[in-house]
Amino acid sequence: MTEGVGANLEKIREAIRRACETAGRDPAGVRLVAVTKAATVDAVRTLLATGHRDLGENRVQEALRKQEAFAEIPDIAWHLIGPLQRNKVSKVINRFTLLHAVDRVDVAEALALAAAERKTRVAALLEVNVSGETSKHGFAEGDLAAAFAALTDLPALEVRGFMTMAPIVTDPEAARPVFRRLRQLRDRWQETLGNAFRLTELSMGMSQDYRVAAEEGSTLVRVGAAIFQ
Ligand SMILES: *Cc1c(COP(=O)(O)O)cnc(C)c1O
Repeated sequence: MTEGVGANLEKIREAIRRACETAGRDPAGVRLVAVTKAATVDAVRTLLATGHRDLGENRVQEALRKQEAFAEIPDIAWHLIGPLQRNKVSKVINRFTLLHAVDRVDVAEALALAAAERKTRVAALLEVNVSGETSKHGFAEGDLAAAFAALTDLPALEVRGFMTMAPIVTDPEAARPVFRRLRQLRDRWQETLGNAFRLTELSMGMSQDYRVAAEEGSTLVRVGAAIFQ
């Protein structure tokens, strides 16, 4: 199905443009991260040939393998969209544009330490479990205060915003309150934090609900199946 990749991408971009028009937003404010976890190397190559450069993987090992496979294209922006374990932290420094799903304080602290040792910085989003489903990763809303208290003194760590996973449901409208809540949380925390962090990013929306997410203020949509299937 690699021939379809370019057409799918255009359809998604158009849908994002329409969603932004509805919401009175600039579509340039929504970055499309193509999730490659279920894509063949050929399909990813087709995507890259269109000029697309934002790619997302949810597992560190697989991401590093694909980075090797596409090493001849130096300007790919790799996003780690899945949760990060503490023992993998040193592997991700200088390897990803953004870590979307930091869900524990000890992992964030380990990242900051590893980045400082390499005299660099690391950009991350905190995953928030807005829906409260016990099966989901992420900070509970009530744990964010303690998290920010621990993380504001780590100069090598840039917390750039929040990420969430909406419940998997057939009606994308059901995800809207979750996305809206994440944006409200971001607005409130930005006010509280002042200059400590600039929470400019909201990573929310996947194949089934990226339009709704764009309407609700998403700056990063993570789309796999709608591009590659
Ligand atoms: C797989 C995955 C996506 C993309 O899901 P699709 O339904 O294929 O668009 C987005 N975010 C995360 C964290 C994922 O693991």
